Amino acid sequence: VAIAVTRERREGETRCAITPETVKKLAALGATVTVEAGTGAGSSIPDAEYEAAGAVIARDAKSALAGADILLKVRGPTAQEISALKSGAVVAAMLDAYREKDTVEALAKSGTTAFAMEFVPRITRAQVMDVLSSQANLAGYRAVIEAAYAFGRGFPMMMTAAGTVAPAKVFVMGAGVAGLQAVATARRLGAVVTATDVRPASKEQVESLGAKFVAVEDEEFKAAETAAGYAKPMSAEYQAKQAELTASHIVKQDIVITTALIPGRPAPRLVTAAHVASMKPGSVLVDLAIDNGGNVEGAKPGEVVTTANGVQIVGWSNLPGRIAADASALYARNLTAFVGLMVKDGVLAVDLEDEILKASVVTNGGAVVHEGVKG
Ligand code: NAD
Repeated sequence: VAIAVTRERREGETRCAITPETVKKLAALGATVTVEAGTGAGSSIPDAEYEAAGAVIARDAKSALAGADILLKVRGPTAQEISALKSGAVVAAMLDAYREKDTVEALAKSGTTAFAMEFVPRITRAQVMDVLSSQANLAGYRAVIEAAYAFGRGFPMMMTAAGTVAPAKVFVMGAGVAGLQAVATARRLGAVVTATDVRPASKEQVESLGAKFVAVEDEEFKAAETAAGYAKPMSAEYQAKQAELTASHIVKQDIVITTALIPGRPAPRLVTAAHVASMKPGSVLVDLAIDNGGNVEGAKPGEVVTTANGVQIVGWSNLPGRIAADASALYARNLTAFVGLMVKDGVLAVDLEDEILKASVVTNGGAVVHEGVKG
């Protein structure tokens, strides 16, 4: 079976879908691996390292894709890449399939069997393939680093001969995978950390990391977690109470990091312009949900906005891409485990009855087959 990996062509995408380590793992499955020249550049992996690991380096995407059975990518392939694939080829990438309709259509038309890695179910067997977790964890870490960089003060308490530097107060909104890593990272830097979420299960997790949990803990809160472990959209009444609590807490904070998401919906608006205006000059907000519409009013994708009262709102898109070498390493391992479901002894055999493949397949046999994406 021939596996190809091409350069990422989306603007600002620094990650890649393969590392020298996973070239070897894929070869151990009996695959031959072709990597387009320059694929690892954004992750500091020179072509020579892929070659040394056993990959063939192709001059361009077209030659990389000639004869490929499987194409691995970070983001969805371009129209040109899709047209270079043979019918029946397998594609695995973070397709962002709910939003990237054109890519999904093109993949269907070309007869490929395309898998959206973001749809891999969060069951125990699939943990090793969980790209949402591997990338969110790094995004949560990086959000704190971005906040620390933009903040004109220190994070830890420092007692010096010239006096004491007070510790930064950090508030993390949304305590899922990204939020909990943000809590842990801010704690490691010595900040005083509080966090909030609408899922009751998150309280203990926040406290176990040494942070204080702050939330409206009413009856609705006690029932806010779905069977799948995700947040439910909250009622207008709850949101009003939440906004009130946020208002009284946020005014005392130096740093606010927001990570709140609800699967398949726009991100909830947690921080209003009035909240931001109440913060001290020099305070920093980092909106991790920016690529899903944002949690913070006034945040702009790809920008750092400075408000009239001197507060910075950091809206970097693709935070995992700002820690590309690690993000690529983890993502490539996720993908390699996923490929392991389909390749045995060098032979490609896609069993769409497999629970993981069934949940993540988006196109097959010339059509869009994923119920959520179709509707
Ligand atoms: P996510 O990215 O969908 O959302 C981030 C966080 O925002 C969640 O914790 C969510 O509850 C929170 N949120 C949503 N609306 C909010 C609001 N109005 N106010 C405050 N917070 C709000 O979540 P995630 O990081 O993917 O994690 C979701 C759950 O899945 C967690 O319980 C996590 O532990 C679990 N999980 C399980 C597995 C597994 O079993 N393999 C893997 C990863 C995550």
